[in-house]
Amino acid sequence: MRFDVITLFPEMFSAIKDEGVIARGIKKSLLSINTWQLRDFSDNKHRNIDDAPYGGGAGMVMQVKPIRDCINKIKQDHPKTKVIYLSPQGEKLTHNLAKELSKSDSLTLLCGRYEGVDERVIEHDIDMEISIGDYVISGGELGAMVLIDAVSRQIPDVLGNQDSLNDSFAEGLLDYPYYTRPETIDGQSVPTVLLSGHQANIDAWRQDQAIKNTQKKRKDLLKNQ
Ligand code: SAM
Repeated sequence: MRFDVITLFPEMFSAIKDEGVIARGIKKSLLSINTWQLRDFSDNKHRNIDDAPYGGGAGMVMQVKPIRDCINKIKQDHPKTKVIYLSPQGEKLTHNLAKELSKSDSLTLLCGRYEGVDERVIEHDIDMEISIGDYVISGGELGAMVLIDAVSRQIPDVLGNQDSLNDSFAEGLLDYPYYTRPETIDGQSVPTVLLSGHQANIDAWRQDQAIKNTQKKRKDLLKNQ
């Protein structure tokens, strides 16, 4: 899986490229993250890529040409790439969407800044808009990093232990509770079944706890069961 990220702040992506699960996936050649500095596609000496909005008002708007030129450059080598604009107006990122996207070979992620991009980019150059939640953040970079992380975890072998794919939402439920040493702390004890060594009983307890956890915290998920 290849991610191409169009951004004004490529250096932000070292946060996920250099550490943790994604860094290990890159090392194992299971995925790559390639950043494109949008200012390199500017056609003026100040390297501007934004201008004031027609109709007036506050803020600046990212222009069509540098974005279109950058996408076309990526498409020269990856014509089938799916182009995604990170946007609060997009489809909400969920486990199911991340899983679906993990089947693609190539995703191009456009990170907005300022008031966002000229609408003609959305009409002509974008396959999909994706939101990380119903709130506005200052730029698409954090959204792109969330998407890359959620999608990469679904790529076979990226996670060291495939059991981690049974996290919350994978089976439509929240995860069960976890405990580690010591057995007792400040009067709080680990449930005895987890110390029993009886795997069938442990599995049944975990399944039951996952349902109870979901009932308590996210009843809405049980409607889809
Ligand atoms: N004027 C835009 C609006 O109200 O729809 C918001 C622009 S926002 C300040 C700047 C950029 O941050 C957006 O172009 C988008 O790329 C990114 N962004 C903001 N909120 C986001 C969200 N919830 N999900 C994904 N990207 C987001």
